[in-house]
Amino acid sequence: MKAMILERISNFRDNPAPLKLVDLPIPDPKEGEILLKVSACGVCHTELDEIEGRTPPPHFPVVLGHQIIGRVEKTGDRAGRFKAGDRVGVAWIYSACGSCGFCREEKENLCSEFQATGRDANGGYAEYAVVPEGFAYPIPPLFTDGEAAPLLCAGAVGYRSLRLTGMKAGQNLGLVGFGASAHLVLQMAKHKSPSSRIFVFARSETERIFARELGAFWAGSIEDSSPKKLAYIIDTTPVWRPVVKALKNLERGGRLVINAIRKEEGDKEALLQLDYANHLWLEKEVKSVANVTRTDVEEFLALAAKIPIRPEVQEYPLENANRALLELKERRIRGAKVLKMGGK
Ligand SMILES: [Zn+2]
Ligand SMILES: [Zn+2]
Repeated sequence: MKAMILERISNFRDNPAPLKLVDLPIPDPKEGEILLKVSACGVCHTELDEIEGRTPPPHFPVVLGHQIIGRVEKTGDRAGRFKAGDRVGVAWIYSACGSCGFCREEKENLCSEFQATGRDANGGYAEYAVVPEGFAYPIPPLFTDGEAAPLLCAGAVGYRSLRLTGMKAGQNLGLVGFGASAHLVLQMAKHKSPSSRIFVFARSETERIFARELGAFWAGSIEDSSPKKLAYIIDTTPVWRPVVKALKNLERGGRLVINAIRKEEGDKEALLQLDYANHLWLEKEVKSVANVTRTDVEEFLALAAKIPIRPEVQEYPLENANRALLELKERRIRGAKVLKMGGK
């Protein structure tokens, strides 16, 4: 099978094509696993964090990609949940221990044995992938393969971040950064709380125009002061300066949720601008989002079909994964980037 593999950590500036196209044997599903013929795989900012070593894969070579849509090709022993031909999705959570305190409380995203798709196990930048059947999800028929892919991380983790804000009807929400996840969160938030106003802080005018098209009440630059204080803010940027700016826009008692697996270190000195009285006092809270649970993915897919959410997707052939990643690195973004297998 064709696969794009990562062989070592590198920096995009030195190596703009970190993934290599190779031919690998089709993997065989073991007990409890299913083999998928992959039709689409979303491209996520976390892949940049893996390539550049902020969340490094434990072994190489590895196939990245954790927003997989495919059809069941073959089932392993004691795997009876799906049958050949079923369309399923796979998200960032590849497996968890199932027995620790976190797993028993449906906080498997925090399990110390959490395994990530496309980092700890091979993912979807390939024509085939193997996953434990308990960590695969039926995909609502409404969505095409390409549309469904970004729902699995950008959407599902976005859903978790919105849930972690504790958003109440009528209160204002800020979205800092407007990429794959935020454009889906905006649609969810409008559905969940039609009386709330959504304020978007984005780096480029293209993103701001897109945000207004999707119904943002206001869209400005990351540097702007918000015209209204915001009860909740979700930050999806990879850097620090927007966090400091966002805390200033947060209402007293408000909560800022950082939806990022890692932050880049380049502008860390921005944190020295933190002023306790302006940025943190009056009971402001900062919370991070870690991974995703199966319940998040299942609830979100049902919600996405009900709203229905329309992901804006840019498709690339598998062979062009490096180009998609480079454009993401350079923040040339409108919606979500998706790799399509099989030349369609
Ligand atoms: Zn992701
Ligand atoms: Zn566990």
